[in-house]
Amino acid sequence: MLPAHMTTENVFAMTSPLDGAALDDVTATETSAISEIVAKAREAQRAWAEQGVDERVKAILAVKDRVLDRAEEITKVVHLEVGKPEVEILLGEVLSSGDVVQYWCDAAEELLDSVEVELDKLSFPGKSGVIYKEARGVVALITPWNMPVAIPLRTLIPALLAGNAVVLKPSEVSPRAGKLVHDLFVGLVPDGLVGLVQGGKEAGAALSSADVDMVVFTGSVATGRKVAHACAERLIPCSIELGGKDAAIVLADADLDRAANGIVWGAMTMSGQNCASVERVYVEKTVAKALTEKIVAVVKGLAAGDVGPLATSMQRDLVQKHVDGAKEAGARILCGGAAGEKGYSFAPTVVEVDSDDVPLMKDETFGPVIPIATVENVDEAITRANASRYGLTASIWTKKARRGEELARRLRAGVVTINNHAFTGALPQAPWSGVGETGYGVTNSPLALEHLTRPRFVLVDKNRSKRELWWYPYTGTLRTIALAFAVLRSSTPGIGAKIAAFFRLVGALPKRLGGG
Ligand code: NAD
Repeated sequence: MLPAHMTTENVFAMTSPLDGAALDDVTATETSAISEIVAKAREAQRAWAEQGVDERVKAILAVKDRVLDRAEEITKVVHLEVGKPEVEILLGEVLSSGDVVQYWCDAAEELLDSVEVELDKLSFPGKSGVIYKEARGVVALITPWNMPVAIPLRTLIPALLAGNAVVLKPSEVSPRAGKLVHDLFVGLVPDGLVGLVQGGKEAGAALSSADVDMVVFTGSVATGRKVAHACAERLIPCSIELGGKDAAIVLADADLDRAANGIVWGAMTMSGQNCASVERVYVEKTVAKALTEKIVAVVKGLAAGDVGPLATSMQRDLVQKHVDGAKEAGARILCGGAAGEKGYSFAPTVVEVDSDDVPLMKDETFGPVIPIATVENVDEAITRANASRYGLTASIWTKKARRGEELARRLRAGVVTINNHAFTGALPQAPWSGVGETGYGVTNSPLALEHLTRPRFVLVDKNRSKRELWWYPYTGTLRTIALAFAVLRSSTPGIGAKIAAFFRLVGALPKRLGGG
Protein backbone atom coordinates (compact mmCIF):
# COMPACT_ATOMS: atom_id res chain seq x y z
CA MET A 1 0.00 0.00 0.00
CA LEU A 2 1.26 3.48 -0.79
CA PRO A 3 1.81 5.85 2.13
CA ALA A 4 -0.91 8.48 2.58
CA HIS A 5 1.14 11.29 1.09
CA MET A 6 1.56 9.52 -2.24
CA THR A 7 -0.86 8.63 -4.98
CA THR A 8 -0.61 6.02 -7.69
CA GLU A 9 -0.43 8.83 -10.27
CA ASN A 10 2.52 10.40 -8.56
CA VAL A 11 5.16 8.51 -6.60
CA PHE A 12 6.43 11.73 -5.06
CA ALA A 13 5.61 13.13 -1.64
CA MET A 14 3.27 16.01 -2.50
CA THR A 15 2.47 17.46 0.92
CA SER A 16 4.69 18.80 3.66
CA PRO A 17 5.04 16.61 6.75
CA LEU A 18 4.97 19.83 8.79
CA ASP A 19 1.35 20.73 8.16
CA GLY A 20 0.08 18.99 5.04
CA ALA A 21 0.66 22.06 2.81
CA ALA A 22 0.97 21.26 -0.89
CA LEU A 23 4.48 20.97 -2.32
CA ASP A 24 5.64 21.87 -5.85
CA ASP A 25 5.09 19.35 -8.62
CA VAL A 26 7.99 17.13 -9.60
CA THR A 27 8.55 15.67 -13.03
CA ALA A 28 9.30 11.97 -12.96
CA THR A 29 11.94 10.53 -15.28
CA GLU A 30 10.53 8.03 -17.75
CA THR A 31 12.18 4.68 -17.07
CA SER A 32 12.94 4.46 -20.79
CA ALA A 33 14.98 7.70 -20.56
CA ILE A 34 17.36 6.36 -17.91
CA SER A 35 19.68 4.58 -20.32
CA GLU A 36 20.03 7.81 -22.29
CA ILE A 37 20.97 9.76 -19.13
CA VAL A 38 23.56 7.11 -18.31
CA ALA A 39 24.92 7.17 -21.87
CA LYS A 40 25.24 10.96 -21.74
CA ALA A 41 27.05 10.71 -18.41
CA ARG A 42 29.42 8.14 -19.90
CA GLU A 43 30.22 10.38 -22.82
CA ALA A 44 30.88 13.38 -20.56
CA GLN A 45 32.99 11.22 -18.24
CA ARG A 46 35.62 10.36 -20.86
CA ALA A 47 36.78 13.94 -21.29
CA TRP A 48 36.36 14.70 -17.57
CA ALA A 49 38.65 11.80 -16.59
CA GLU A 50 41.29 12.97 -19.04
CA GLN A 51 41.59 16.34 -17.31
CA GLY A 52 44.16 16.68 -14.56
CA VAL A 53 42.94 16.36 -10.98
CA ASP A 54 43.86 20.03 -10.47
CA GLU A 55 41.40 21.05 -13.21
CA ARG A 56 38.67 18.96 -11.66
CA VAL A 57 39.40 20.44 -8.22
CA LYS A 58 39.05 23.96 -9.67
CA ALA A 59 35.58 23.15 -11.02
CA ILE A 60 34.32 21.30 -7.94
CA LEU A 61 35.62 23.78 -5.35
CA ALA A 62 33.06 26.30 -6.61
CA VAL A 63 30.33 23.95 -5.32
CA LYS A 64 31.33 24.92 -1.79
CA ASP A 65 30.35 28.55 -2.30
CA ARG A 66 27.19 27.54 -4.08
CA VAL A 67 26.12 25.38 -1.11
CA LEU A 68 26.91 28.14 1.37
CA ASP A 69 25.42 30.93 -0.74
CA ARG A 70 22.22 28.94 -1.23
CA ALA A 71 21.91 28.18 2.50
CA GLU A 72 18.51 29.85 2.82
CA GLU A 73 17.08 28.19 -0.28
CA ILE A 74 18.36 24.74 0.72
CA THR A 75 17.01 25.21 4.23
CA LYS A 76 13.57 26.21 2.97
CA VAL A 77 13.26 23.32 0.53
CA VAL A 78 14.45 20.63 2.96
CA HIS A 79 12.38 22.04 5.84
CA LEU A 80 9.18 21.95 3.80
CA GLU A 81 9.90 18.64 2.16
CA VAL A 82 11.09 16.46 5.05
CA GLY A 83 10.19 18.62 8.03
CA LYS A 84 13.62 18.98 9.65
CA PRO A 85 14.14 21.98 11.94
CA GLU A 86 15.92 24.77 10.06
CA VAL A 87 18.92 24.81 12.41
CA GLU A 88 19.51 21.12 11.78
CA ILE A 89 19.51 21.73 8.05
CA LEU A 90 21.95 24.63 8.33
CA LEU A 91 24.34 22.64 10.54
CA GLY A 92 23.96 19.14 9.16
CA GLU A 93 23.29 19.73 5.46
CA VAL A 94 24.72 23.15 4.55
CA LEU A 95 27.79 23.81 6.72
CA SER A 96 28.87 20.17 6.84
CA SER A 97 28.54 19.90 3.04
CA GLY A 98 30.76 22.96 2.65
CA ASP A 99 33.36 21.16 4.79
CA VAL A 100 33.01 18.04 2.64
CA VAL A 101 33.77 19.97 -0.55
CA GLN A 102 36.76 21.73 1.04
CA TYR A 103 38.22 18.52 2.50
CA TRP A 104 38.09 16.57 -0.75
CA CYS A 105 39.35 19.47 -2.85
CA ASP A 106 42.32 19.88 -0.47
CA ALA A 107 43.05 16.16 -0.37
CA ALA A 108 42.22 15.02 -3.92
CA GLU A 109 45.57 15.55 -5.66
CA GLU A 110 47.54 13.66 -3.05
CA LEU A 111 45.00 10.87 -2.58
CA LEU A 112 44.56 10.29 -6.30
CA ASP A 113 48.26 10.45 -7.11
CA SER A 114 49.88 7.36 -8.58
CA VAL A 115 52.03 5.20 -6.30
CA GLU A 116 55.34 3.61 -7.28
CA VAL A 117 55.76 -0.01 -6.28
CA GLU A 118 59.09 -1.23 -4.87
CA LEU A 119 60.29 -4.42 -6.58
CA ASP A 120 63.20 -6.57 -5.47
CA LYS A 121 66.03 -5.82 -7.93
CA LEU A 122 67.57 -9.28 -7.72
CA SER A 123 64.34 -11.18 -8.40
CA PHE A 124 62.89 -8.65 -10.85
CA PRO A 125 65.78 -6.89 -12.58
CA GLY A 126 64.99 -3.88 -14.78
CA LYS A 127 61.35 -3.72 -13.71
CA SER A 128 59.37 -0.88 -12.22
CA GLY A 129 55.66 -0.65 -11.41
CA VAL A 130 53.15 2.11 -10.79
CA ILE A 131 49.62 1.92 -9.37
CA TYR A 132 47.24 4.40 -10.97
CA LYS A 133 43.88 5.17 -9.39
CA GLU A 134 41.45 5.23 -12.26
CA ALA A 135 37.87 6.43 -12.29
CA ARG A 136 35.34 3.61 -12.37
CA GLY A 137 33.24 5.36 -15.00
CA VAL A 138 29.57 6.07 -14.30
CA VAL A 139 28.47 5.81 -10.67
CA ALA A 140 24.75 5.42 -9.92
CA LEU A 141 23.98 7.16 -6.63
CA ILE A 142 20.70 6.17 -4.96
CA THR A 143 19.92 8.07 -1.79
CA PRO A 144 17.36 8.30 1.04
CA TRP A 145 15.37 11.28 2.26
CA ASN A 146 16.73 11.76 5.77
CA MET A 147 19.77 13.84 4.74
CA PRO A 148 18.74 14.77 1.22
CA VAL A 149 21.62 17.19 0.58
CA ALA A 150 24.51 15.92 2.70
CA ILE A 151 24.22 12.23 1.76
CA PRO A 152 24.33 12.76 -2.02
CA LEU A 153 27.15 15.29 -1.71
CA ARG A 154 29.35 13.08 0.46
CA THR A 155 29.66 10.72 -2.52
CA LEU A 156 29.21 13.12 -5.44
CA ILE A 157 32.22 15.24 -4.49
CA PRO A 158 34.90 12.51 -4.19
CA ALA A 159 33.40 10.51 -7.06
CA LEU A 160 33.60 13.46 -9.44
CA LEU A 161 37.07 14.47 -8.26
CA ALA A 162 38.21 10.91 -8.97
CA GLY A 163 37.08 11.40 -12.59
CA ASN A 164 33.72 9.63 -12.49
CA ALA A 165 30.35 10.73 -13.78
CA VAL A 166 27.46 10.38 -11.32
CA VAL A 167 23.78 9.77 -11.97
CA LEU A 168 21.81 10.71 -8.86
CA LYS A 169 18.43 9.19 -7.99
CA PRO A 170 17.17 11.00 -4.91
CA SER A 171 14.38 9.62 -2.77
CA GLU A 172 10.82 10.14 -3.96
CA VAL A 173 10.23 11.72 -0.53
CA SER A 174 12.82 14.46 -1.18
CA PRO A 175 12.97 14.99 -4.96
CA ARG A 176 13.06 18.78 -4.73
CA ALA A 177 16.16 18.70 -2.52
CA GLY A 178 17.60 16.17 -4.99
CA LYS A 179 17.09 18.59 -7.88
CA LEU A 180 18.76 21.31 -5.84
CA VAL A 181 21.81 19.08 -5.30
CA HIS A 182 21.97 18.31 -9.01
CA ASP A 183 21.76 22.01 -9.88
CA LEU A 184 24.77 22.83 -7.70
CA PHE A 185 26.94 21.38 -10.48
CA VAL A 186 25.25 22.96 -13.50
CA GLY A 187 27.70 25.07 -15.49
CA LEU A 188 30.68 23.94 -13.39
CA VAL A 189 31.16 20.49 -14.88
CA PRO A 190 30.51 19.21 -18.43
CA ASP A 191 26.88 18.90 -19.40
CA GLY A 192 25.47 15.48 -18.46
CA LEU A 193 28.37 14.54 -16.13
CA VAL A 194 25.98 14.77 -13.19
CA GLY A 195 22.72 13.17 -14.27
CA LEU A 196 19.41 13.26 -12.41
CA VAL A 197 16.78 10.53 -12.33
CA GLN A 198 13.57 11.39 -10.49
CA GLY A 199 11.22 8.65 -9.36
CA GLY A 200 10.58 5.88 -6.89
CA LYS A 201 11.58 2.26 -6.64
CA GLU A 202 11.06 1.48 -10.35
CA ALA A 203 13.42 4.30 -11.27
CA GLY A 204 15.95 3.13 -8.67
CA ALA A 205 15.76 -0.47 -9.91
CA ALA A 206 16.12 0.65 -13.53
CA LEU A 207 19.14 2.80 -12.69
CA SER A 208 20.91 0.06 -10.74
CA SER A 209 20.43 -2.31 -13.67
CA ALA A 210 21.45 0.25 -16.31
CA ASP A 211 24.88 0.44 -17.94
CA VAL A 212 26.58 1.92 -14.86
CA ASP A 213 29.96 0.82 -13.47
CA MET A 214 29.11 0.99 -9.79
CA VAL A 215 26.17 1.71 -7.49
CA VAL A 216 26.49 3.69 -4.29
CA PHE A 217 23.35 3.06 -2.27
CA THR A 218 22.18 4.44 1.06
CA GLY A 219 18.82 3.34 2.39
CA SER A 220 16.94 0.48 3.99
CA VAL A 221 18.11 -3.11 4.36
CA ALA A 222 15.31 -4.46 2.16
CA THR A 223 16.22 -2.18 -0.75
CA GLY A 224 19.96 -2.59 -0.17
CA ARG A 225 19.57 -6.33 -0.70
CA LYS A 226 17.79 -5.76 -4.02
CA VAL A 227 20.48 -3.34 -5.17
CA ALA A 228 23.25 -5.74 -4.14
CA HIS A 229 21.53 -8.51 -6.14
CA ALA A 230 21.22 -6.30 -9.22
CA CYS A 231 24.92 -5.43 -8.97
CA ALA A 232 25.89 -9.08 -8.45
CA GLU A 233 24.00 -9.99 -11.65
CA ARG A 234 26.08 -7.49 -13.59
CA LEU A 235 29.27 -8.18 -11.59
CA ILE A 236 29.71 -4.52 -10.78
CA PRO A 237 30.72 -3.27 -7.34
CA CYS A 238 28.30 -1.58 -5.00
CA SER A 239 28.66 0.36 -1.81
CA ILE A 240 25.79 -0.38 0.54
CA GLU A 241 25.07 1.79 3.62
CA LEU A 242 21.95 0.69 5.45
CA GLY A 243 20.13 1.06 8.73
CA GLY A 244 21.21 1.01 12.35
CA LYS A 245 20.08 0.29 15.88
CA ASP A 246 22.73 2.23 17.73
CA ALA A 247 23.36 1.59 21.39
CA ALA A 248 24.55 4.15 23.92
CA ILE A 249 26.25 2.49 26.90
CA VAL A 250 26.34 4.57 30.06
CA LEU A 251 28.84 3.46 32.71
CA ALA A 252 28.48 4.15 36.41
CA ASP A 253 31.33 6.69 36.31
CA ALA A 254 29.85 8.76 33.46
CA ASP A 255 29.13 12.48 33.64
CA LEU A 256 25.38 11.92 33.76
CA ASP A 257 24.44 15.45 32.71
CA ARG A 258 26.60 15.25 29.60
CA ALA A 259 25.33 11.72 28.90
CA ALA A 260 21.69 12.79 29.23
CA ASN A 261 22.13 15.85 26.99
CA GLY A 262 24.14 13.90 24.42
CA ILE A 263 21.79 10.93 24.32
CA VAL A 264 18.72 13.14 23.94
CA TRP A 265 20.37 14.99 21.05
CA GLY A 266 21.60 11.73 19.53
CA ALA A 267 18.11 10.24 19.69
CA MET A 268 15.97 13.26 18.83
CA THR A 269 17.94 15.09 16.16
CA MET A 270 16.24 14.61 12.79
CA SER A 271 13.32 13.29 14.91
CA GLY A 272 15.34 10.12 15.28
CA GLN A 273 15.34 9.61 11.51
CA ASN A 274 19.08 9.25 11.50
CA CYS A 275 20.78 5.98 10.60
CA ALA A 276 23.04 6.60 13.63
CA SER A 277 20.29 7.63 16.03
CA VAL A 278 20.54 6.44 19.62
CA GLU A 279 17.93 3.68 19.50
CA ARG A 280 18.89 1.79 22.68
CA VAL A 281 20.38 2.95 25.98
CA TYR A 282 22.07 0.43 28.29
CA VAL A 283 22.88 1.97 31.67
CA GLU A 284 24.64 0.41 34.66
CA LYS A 285 22.15 -0.17 37.45
CA THR A 286 23.77 2.07 40.07
CA VAL A 287 23.11 5.15 37.93
CA ALA A 288 20.06 3.98 35.98
CA LYS A 289 17.49 5.91 38.00
CA ALA A 290 19.50 9.13 38.00
CA LEU A 291 20.25 8.97 34.27
CA THR A 292 16.65 8.16 33.38
CA GLU A 293 15.37 11.12 35.41
CA LYS A 294 17.85 13.42 33.70
CA ILE A 295 16.94 12.16 30.23
CA VAL A 296 13.24 12.65 30.90
CA ALA A 297 13.92 16.17 32.22
CA VAL A 298 15.94 17.11 29.12
CA VAL A 299 13.25 15.72 26.80
CA LYS A 300 10.49 17.55 28.67
CA GLY A 301 12.54 20.74 28.42
CA LEU A 302 12.76 20.63 24.60
CA ALA A 303 11.08 23.57 22.94
CA ALA A 304 8.30 23.17 20.37
CA GLY A 305 10.00 22.81 17.00
CA ASP A 306 13.26 21.38 18.40
CA VAL A 307 12.07 18.00 17.20
CA GLY A 308 10.46 18.06 13.76
CA PRO A 309 7.76 15.74 12.47
CA LEU A 310 8.43 12.36 10.91
CA ALA A 311 8.94 12.68 7.17
CA THR A 312 6.10 10.38 6.15
CA SER A 313 2.89 9.05 7.67
CA MET A 314 4.26 5.54 7.17
CA GLN A 315 7.22 6.40 9.38
CA ARG A 316 4.99 7.90 12.06
CA ASP A 317 2.80 4.78 12.08
CA LEU A 318 5.87 2.53 12.42
CA VAL A 319 7.11 4.51 15.43
CA GLN A 320 3.69 4.21 17.06
CA LYS A 321 3.69 0.46 16.42
CA HIS A 322 7.10 0.01 18.06
CA VAL A 323 6.12 2.06 21.12
CA ASP A 324 2.76 0.27 21.48
CA GLY A 325 4.44 -3.13 21.08
CA ALA A 326 6.92 -2.37 23.86
CA LYS A 327 4.11 -1.11 26.11
CA GLU A 328 2.12 -4.30 25.58
CA ALA A 329 5.22 -6.28 26.57
CA GLY A 330 5.46 -4.38 29.86
CA ALA A 331 7.61 -1.34 29.03
CA ARG A 332 6.84 1.92 30.88
CA ILE A 333 6.29 5.13 28.88
CA LEU A 334 7.92 7.90 30.90
CA CYS A 335 6.96 10.71 28.52
CA GLY A 336 5.46 11.11 25.05
CA GLY A 337 4.30 7.88 23.47
CA ALA A 338 1.80 9.17 20.92
CA ALA A 339 1.50 11.04 17.63
CA GLY A 340 1.09 14.81 17.82
CA GLU A 341 -1.72 16.77 16.29
CA LYS A 342 0.14 18.65 13.57
CA GLY A 343 1.44 17.00 10.41
CA TYR A 344 3.28 13.74 11.00
CA SER A 345 4.65 14.74 14.40
CA PHE A 346 5.28 12.28 17.21
CA ALA A 347 5.87 13.39 20.79
CA PRO A 348 9.49 12.91 21.98
CA THR A 349 9.28 9.70 23.95
CA VAL A 350 11.26 7.97 26.71
CA VAL A 351 10.51 4.31 27.46
CA GLU A 352 11.88 2.10 30.22
CA VAL A 353 12.27 -1.44 28.86
CA ASP A 354 13.21 -4.75 30.48
CA SER A 355 13.57 -7.04 27.49
CA ASP A 356 15.37 -6.66 24.16
CA ASP A 357 12.89 -9.08 22.61
CA VAL A 358 10.56 -6.41 21.24
CA PRO A 359 10.70 -4.60 17.86
CA LEU A 360 11.53 -1.36 19.69
CA MET A 361 14.84 -2.94 20.77
CA LYS A 362 15.49 -5.07 17.68
CA ASP A 363 14.29 -3.25 14.56
CA GLU A 364 15.13 0.21 13.32
CA THR A 365 12.50 2.57 14.77
CA PHE A 366 13.68 5.78 13.05
CA GLY A 367 11.71 8.00 15.40
CA PRO A 368 12.04 10.29 18.45
CA VAL A 369 12.09 7.48 21.01
CA ILE A 370 14.67 6.66 23.70
CA PRO A 371 14.34 3.14 25.10
CA ILE A 372 16.35 2.73 28.31
CA ALA A 373 17.37 -0.69 29.68
CA THR A 374 19.17 -1.24 32.99
CA VAL A 375 22.12 -3.65 32.99
CA GLU A 376 24.04 -5.34 35.79
CA ASN A 377 27.44 -4.37 34.42
CA VAL A 378 29.40 -3.34 31.35
CA ASP A 379 29.76 -6.92 30.08
CA GLU A 380 25.99 -7.29 29.91
CA ALA A 381 25.76 -3.91 28.16
CA ILE A 382 28.28 -4.92 25.51
CA THR A 383 26.67 -8.33 24.97
CA ARG A 384 23.25 -6.75 24.50
CA ALA A 385 24.58 -3.95 22.30
CA ASN A 386 26.37 -6.47 20.07
CA ALA A 387 23.33 -8.74 19.80
CA SER A 388 21.82 -6.46 17.15
CA ARG A 389 21.85 -7.55 13.52
CA TYR A 390 22.89 -3.97 12.73
CA GLY A 391 26.24 -2.37 13.55
CA LEU A 392 26.57 1.24 12.46
CA THR A 393 27.70 3.33 15.44
CA ALA A 394 27.72 2.96 19.22
CA SER A 395 28.69 5.23 22.06
CA ILE A 396 30.22 4.71 25.49
CA TRP A 397 29.77 7.31 28.20
CA THR A 398 32.51 7.26 30.86
CA LYS A 399 34.93 9.66 32.48
CA LYS A 400 37.72 7.10 32.00
CA ALA A 401 38.69 7.75 28.38
CA ARG A 402 41.21 4.89 28.22
CA ARG A 403 38.66 2.38 29.51
CA GLY A 404 36.22 3.70 26.94
CA GLU A 405 38.76 3.12 24.17
CA GLU A 406 39.40 -0.45 25.37
CA LEU A 407 35.68 -1.18 25.47
CA ALA A 408 35.26 0.35 22.01
CA ARG A 409 37.27 -2.53 20.59
CA ARG A 410 34.72 -4.99 21.93
CA LEU A 411 31.81 -3.31 20.16
CA ARG A 412 30.52 -4.62 16.86
CA ALA A 413 30.11 -1.29 15.10
CA GLY A 414 31.75 0.71 12.33
CA VAL A 415 32.07 3.84 14.46
CA VAL A 416 32.40 4.09 18.24
CA THR A 417 32.32 7.43 20.02
CA ILE A 418 33.33 7.96 23.64
CA ASN A 419 31.20 10.61 25.37
CA ASN A 420 29.51 11.65 22.14
CA HIS A 421 27.19 10.18 19.55
CA ALA A 422 26.60 10.13 15.79
CA PHE A 423 28.12 13.44 14.71
CA THR A 424 31.19 11.88 13.05
CA GLY A 425 29.07 11.17 9.97
CA ALA A 426 29.61 14.85 9.21
CA LEU A 427 33.41 14.52 9.32
CA PRO A 428 34.75 13.94 5.81
CA GLN A 429 38.06 12.74 7.33
CA ALA A 430 36.47 9.88 9.29
CA PRO A 431 35.29 6.62 7.69
CA TRP A 432 31.57 5.95 7.99
CA SER A 433 30.75 2.29 7.68
CA GLY A 434 29.09 -0.56 9.47
CA VAL A 435 28.93 -4.28 10.04
CA GLY A 436 26.17 -6.87 9.70
CA GLU A 437 22.94 -5.66 8.11
CA THR A 438 24.21 -2.08 8.17
CA GLY A 439 26.09 -3.08 5.03
CA TYR A 440 29.65 -2.85 3.86
CA GLY A 441 29.90 0.55 2.23
CA VAL A 442 32.47 3.10 3.32
CA THR A 443 31.83 6.79 2.89
CA ASN A 444 34.06 9.67 3.92
CA SER A 445 37.83 9.45 4.51
CA PRO A 446 40.51 8.31 2.05
CA LEU A 447 39.14 4.77 2.41
CA ALA A 448 36.02 5.82 0.49
CA LEU A 449 38.16 6.45 -2.57
CA GLU A 450 39.03 2.76 -2.70
CA HIS A 451 35.42 2.17 -3.72
CA LEU A 452 35.17 5.06 -6.11
CA THR A 453 38.33 4.22 -8.07
CA ARG A 454 39.83 1.06 -9.43
CA PRO A 455 43.54 0.33 -9.42
CA ARG A 456 45.43 -0.01 -12.66
CA PHE A 457 48.92 -1.42 -12.27
CA VAL A 458 51.39 -0.65 -15.03
CA LEU A 459 54.70 -2.51 -15.12
CA VAL A 460 57.58 -1.37 -17.32
CA ASP A 461 60.37 -3.87 -18.01
CA LYS A 462 63.72 -2.52 -19.16
CA ASN A 463 65.47 -5.86 -18.72
CA ARG A 464 67.44 -6.48 -21.94
CA SER A 465 68.04 -10.22 -21.45
CA LYS A 466 66.36 -12.50 -23.98
CA ARG A 467 64.57 -14.54 -21.40
CA GLU A 468 63.31 -14.28 -17.79
CA LEU A 469 64.48 -16.77 -15.23
CA TRP A 470 60.98 -18.26 -14.94
CA TRP A 471 60.16 -18.52 -18.66
CA TYR A 472 60.43 -21.79 -20.64
CA PRO A 473 62.22 -24.17 -20.73
CA TYR A 474 61.39 -25.71 -17.31
CA THR A 475 64.63 -27.51 -16.47
CA GLY A 476 66.25 -29.24 -13.53
CA THR A 477 68.44 -26.14 -13.09
CA LEU A 478 65.37 -23.96 -12.63
CA ARG A 479 64.08 -26.45 -10.08
CA THR A 480 67.38 -26.26 -8.17
CA ILE A 481 67.24 -22.46 -8.18
CA ALA A 482 63.64 -22.39 -6.92
CA LEU A 483 64.44 -24.81 -4.08
CA ALA A 484 67.57 -22.83 -3.13
CA PHE A 485 65.45 -19.65 -2.91
CA ALA A 486 62.94 -21.47 -0.67
CA VAL A 487 65.73 -22.43 1.77
CA LEU A 488 67.26 -18.94 1.70
CA ARG A 489 63.92 -17.14 2.25
CA SER A 490 62.65 -19.38 5.05
CA SER A 491 63.65 -18.59 8.62
CA THR A 492 63.56 -22.27 9.64
CA PRO A 493 66.74 -23.80 8.10
CA GLY A 494 70.04 -23.52 10.01
CA ILE A 495 73.04 -21.51 8.84
CA GLY A 496 74.71 -24.59 7.32
CA ALA A 497 71.69 -25.36 5.13
CA LYS A 498 71.52 -21.73 4.04
CA ILE A 499 75.19 -21.61 3.05
CA ALA A 500 74.75 -24.83 1.06
CA ALA A 501 71.66 -23.41 -0.66
CA PHE A 502 73.54 -20.21 -1.48
CA PHE A 503 76.29 -22.16 -3.23
CA ARG A 504 73.73 -24.24 -5.13
CA LEU A 505 72.10 -21.02 -6.28
CA VAL A 506 75.37 -19.39 -7.33
CA GLY A 507 76.31 -22.55 -9.20
CA ALA A 508 72.97 -22.85 -11.02
CA LEU A 509 72.30 -19.22 -11.97
CA PRO A 510 74.94 -18.82 -14.74
CA LYS A 511 73.77 -22.08 -16.30
CA ARG A 512 70.17 -20.90 -16.26
CA LEU A 513 71.00 -17.49 -17.67
CA GLY A 514 72.77 -19.30 -20.46
CA GLY A 515 69.49 -21.08 -21.29
CA GLY A 516 69.97 -24.27 -19.25
P1 NAD B 1 14.64 3.14 1.01
O1 NAD B 1 15.42 1.89 0.94
O2 NAD B 1 13.16 3.04 1.05
O3 NAD B 1 14.96 4.08 -0.23
C1 NAD B 1 16.27 4.51 -0.51
C2 NAD B 1 16.37 4.82 -2.00
O4 NAD B 1 16.25 3.61 -2.74
C3 NAD B 1 15.29 5.75 -2.52
O5 NAD B 1 15.86 6.63 -3.44
C4 NAD B 1 14.33 4.79 -3.21
O6 NAD B 1 13.56 5.38 -4.24
C5 NAD B 1 15.30 3.79 -3.79
N1 NAD B 1 14.72 2.47 -4.11
C6 NAD B 1 13.60 1.89 -3.63
N2 NAD B 1 13.46 0.64 -4.16
C7 NAD B 1 14.51 0.43 -4.98
C8 NAD B 1 14.95 -0.66 -5.78
N3 NAD B 1 14.25 -1.80 -5.88
N4 NAD B 1 16.12 -0.52 -6.47
C9 NAD B 1 16.86 0.59 -6.38
N5 NAD B 1 16.49 1.67 -5.64
C10 NAD B 1 15.32 1.60 -4.95
O7 NAD B 1 15.20 3.93 2.27
P2 NAD B 1 14.65 5.30 2.88
O8 NAD B 1 13.41 5.01 3.61
O9 NAD B 1 14.66 6.36 1.85
O10 NAD B 1 15.84 5.66 3.90
C11 NAD B 1 15.84 5.29 5.24
C12 NAD B 1 16.87 4.20 5.50
O11 NAD B 1 18.16 4.64 5.10
C13 NAD B 1 16.99 3.87 6.96
O12 NAD B 1 17.07 2.48 7.13
C14 NAD B 1 18.31 4.51 7.36
O13 NAD B 1 18.93 3.91 8.46
C15 NAD B 1 19.10 4.34 6.12
N6 NAD B 1 20.22 5.27 6.08
C16 NAD B 1 21.49 4.78 6.23
C17 NAD B 1 22.58 5.64 6.24
C18 NAD B 1 23.99 5.14 6.41
O14 NAD B 1 24.91 5.90 6.15
N7 NAD B 1 24.21 3.91 6.79
C19 NAD B 1 22.35 7.02 6.11
C20 NAD B 1 21.05 7.47 5.97
C21 NAD B 1 19.99 6.59 5.95
